[in-house]
Amino acid sequence: MSELIRLTAAELAGRIRAREVSSVEVTRAHLDRIEAVDHEVHAFLHVDTDGALAAAEAVDDGLARGDEPASPLAGVPLALKDVLTMRGAPTTCGSKILEGWHPPYDATVTARLRAAGVVLLGKTNMDEFAMGSSTENSAYGPTRNPWDLGRVPGGSGGGSSASLAAFEAPLAIGTDTGGSIRQPGSVTGTVGVKPTYGGVSRYGLVAFSSSLDQAGPCARTVLDAALLHEVIAGHDPMDSTSIDAPVPPVVAAAREGALGDLRGVRVGVVGQFRGDGYQPGVLRAFEAAVEQLRELGAEVIEVSCPHFEYALPAYYLIAPSECSSNLARFDAMRYGLRVGDGAGISAEDVMAQTREAGFGAEVKRRVMIGTYALSSGYYDAYYGQAQKVRTLITRDFDAAFATVDVLVSPTTPTTAFPIGERADDPMAMYLADLCTIPSNLAGNAALTVPCGLSDEDGLPVGLQVMAPALQDHRMYRVAAAYEVARDAAQGGPLIQRVPELRQSALAGADDRKVGG
Ligand code: GLN
Repeated sequence: MSELIRLTAAELAGRIRAREVSSVEVTRAHLDRIEAVDHEVHAFLHVDTDGALAAAEAVDDGLARGDEPASPLAGVPLALKDVLTMRGAPTTCGSKILEGWHPPYDATVTARLRAAGVVLLGKTNMDEFAMGSSTENSAYGPTRNPWDLGRVPGGSGGGSSASLAAFEAPLAIGTDTGGSIRQPGSVTGTVGVKPTYGGVSRYGLVAFSSSLDQAGPCARTVLDAALLHEVIAGHDPMDSTSIDAPVPPVVAAAREGALGDLRGVRVGVVGQFRGDGYQPGVLRAFEAAVEQLRELGAEVIEVSCPHFEYALPAYYLIAPSECSSNLARFDAMRYGLRVGDGAGISAEDVMAQTREAGFGAEVKRRVMIGTYALSSGYYDAYYGQAQKVRTLITRDFDAAFATVDVLVSPTTPTTAFPIGERADDPMAMYLADLCTIPSNLAGNAALTVPCGLSDEDGLPVGLQVMAPALQDHRMYRVAAAYEVARDAAQGGPLIQRVPELRQSALAGADDRKVGG
């Protein structure tokens, strides 16, 4: 196994820039790793070997000519969640209904990555249309958590986070509608950031819930996430909700944080995110992290956000409502699957049969709930009420941020749960997003940074740091400071303690993998 795969993105980029190693060598090392372990992990739905090597070669050629690197991440490989379009590769969103669809365009995120010289390794597995917290809702089979292959890697972006924890990629992109970057980051011991809504373009991100969806960086260190954040963020005229304002200075904040001084920073601990339903091992790891923030000089203050307890029910009305509308476009006429065509049946029946065959159970459940919540006679009672709750949650944040700079909580109430444990219990699955959803509803920024292993089961726990809209840099500073203190206290980076995965000669003989 090449030692290159253990390096951070910043280290890899530095070595590539200095021409100590080529981007092709780095890319090959990751492709070899994918070949060796992805039959166990199943983080990828599609691996673009030729495209990745060609992109790497282009970076190497440019450097050989003496060109300036296109970005601080030039030549570094990345895994892209299969909900973002990428020319030359399929986009399935983990759904059968999009099987075989090759989008004719790049998402803005994808285009910016290419322009930055980032090497796209392929597309990662996810819950169908990003609905879920375990990646078990993928139509192409679950992803496994590298810390324990019997457990889920979280969701919906389990593939992206697992690819980092399995050292298949040093960087990944996720999307977060209710927690799908942060919750998988938390349970795989990796970093995941939901930028301020509108901070990263949604053009080419297949819509689940348009007022909540946000793409963001996934990485193994806070600095790597910040470097990736600055590559993908910024105004895009192709997305009408994109914010036309300077990108928050997240790289500078991560570097400042790494100096380890949080004096003058006020950290609010959300009282609501501590009670029943939280594993004691998670709470102990969280309390220890808060203590470390205090030791770094932060002023720690208890805050109350009384409406946060209504965030989950409000989300599970708003997100399904928007999804019922967004997913109407999968009508067998424009994309992917078509069932019953040519059998002499009506267009309506082709649509109905295609949607029946193409969507999985969770997607159907949400389309039905959303259609119900939006129907006349129920709209005010359900969708309208949920929108009012959304406003109250935003006001809770405003009140809290009047007295503190950032808020902290556990990222998710439990560590990674066993595959299958919650698959038939939607409510139990939804509870995984208890702490992450408020930031989506309010549209502000939040991230997860690993905060040690639970003393109950030895699995990773995440510390969530939340910041006001467009103040993303605040949370990077706090997370970077915490990361340095954590590594000093815990004897090195947590992620390097992932158990070694079995390397098998069976690589490639895996029938769960498509397109790879
Ligand atoms: N797990 C949440 C859901 O199922 C969040 C998903 C997401 O952020 N895409 O809706």
